[in-house]
Amino acid sequence: MPINLEIPKKFKVLVGQANQVATEVLRPNSRKYDRAEHEYPKELDMLAALVDGMNEGSDLGGAGASGVRRSENGDGGNRNGSNMSTVLGVIEMCWGDVGLTLSMPRQGLGNSAIASVADDEQRERFEGKWAAMAITEPEAGSDTAAIRTTAVLDGDDYVLNGEKIYVTAGERADLVVVWASLDPSQGRAAIKSFVVERSNPGLILDRLEHKLGIRASDTAAFRLENCRVPKENLLGSPDIDMKKSFAGAMQTFDNTRPLVAGMAVGVARACIERTRELLADAGIEPDYDRPAHSQPAAAAELLELESEYEAAHLLTLQAAWMADNSKPNSLQASYAKAKAGRSCVDIALRCVALCGSAGYGEDELLEKWARDAKILDIFEGTQQIQLLIIARQLLGKTSSELR
Ligand SMILES: Cc1cc2nc3c(=O)[nH]c(=O)nc-3n(C[C@H](O)[C@H](O)[C@H](O)COP(=O)(O)OP(=O)(O)OC[C@H]3O[C@@H](n4cnc5c(N)ncnc54)[C@H](O)[C@@H]3O)c2cc1C
Repeated sequence: MPINLEIPKKFKVLVGQANQVATEVLRPNSRKYDRAEHEYPKELDMLAALVDGMNEGSDLGGAGASGVRRSENGDGGNRNGSNMSTVLGVIEMCWGDVGLTLSMPRQGLGNSAIASVADDEQRERFEGKWAAMAITEPEAGSDTAAIRTTAVLDGDDYVLNGEKIYVTAGERADLVVVWASLDPSQGRAAIKSFVVERSNPGLILDRLEHKLGIRASDTAAFRLENCRVPKENLLGSPDIDMKKSFAGAMQTFDNTRPLVAGMAVGVARACIERTRELLADAGIEPDYDRPAHSQPAAAAELLELESEYEAAHLLTLQAAWMADNSKPNSLQASYAKAKAGRSCVDIALRCVALCGSAGYGEDELLEKWARDAKILDIFEGTQQIQLLIIARQLLGKTSSELR
């Protein structure tokens, strides 16, 4: 089947709307909330209602993270569904501002987890709520199997105890999806995710982090102290299945990694577009009909960055398309995340360099994008972890054989 690289016609309106939102709301507030770290971006409330409307008005999914549910259509057909529309929307929004996109009510990574693994009753119960995702702990980052937070069944509740750090939107969300172990002696298979109401008195906010980039996004650290959660809030099966359980939890990432790759694609495109304009103002424009080596060095470098961007973009769309078509995409999701995360950081820094003092100063957003880019190569699995996953898949090794 030939590859069609055009945006699917049915998503053109959505992409146009997301771009308009990015241009008219996110960009104009970008610098303001970079400076006013931890201040709630109130402009987003109105916007979130609009995104909800976009999601509701479409059976194709929408622009937000709550749309990433794997298709149940296993007919081998060729469809572009909610994963594709979500990625396309995220690219546009992050072209506007990635920190503000991460602060969009009801579009948290916890919403993706709920969309991916919750049953129908839970999906209904948590609908319309904003959900953050809490996996990382002081002693468990890349190695998620090392988490120490515990969940003990007591009557009709699970009682959670532990510590969670770096929770994006943790302060502002309505819900936090917390990963905890039913039995630390049983390793990965005993790790489950629990939906905890943000208002639960056992979920204690310790602090908000000050950060290099994405300052508009709040990043919270929590303690869970005898935090009682109704047992119906466990996502997925409560059984400890040594073969399947952890793989199930990890599957969420096959849907969310393309989203984070999409964020990186959006930031990379913003950098390249602005750099192209600034270079054009200085009289340098790449000629797409001549070999790069015969052009001014700055034009040749821009061409190279554009090719990096295209590769990241296509890998991202491929991973989302596979999720929409019920094809196993762990490998492609990691390809996309690794390529887009690394390229975004590289592109952002080289654009700063290409634009000289304009690139480094606060009059332009390039310096901010260079700071925002780095996280996209860290969260949802660092660069090194993506390469490890790819190597395991290509070599047919398990996580204990190659680590
Ligand atoms: C701003 C921000 C927002 C975040 N949001 C969230 C969130 O919403 N929810 C959440 O749960 N987490 C979140 N995180 C946490 C993030 O996912 C982790 O920081 C990330 O997974 C890396 O874990 P770590 O920081 O503990 O680093 P470590 O795992 O300690 O890694 C340190 C370095 O070692 C490398 N490394 C580790 N293991 C290996 C290996 N086996 N082989 C080769 N290299 C290796 C890593 O790539 C990295 O370069 C966020 C982090 C930040 C900074």
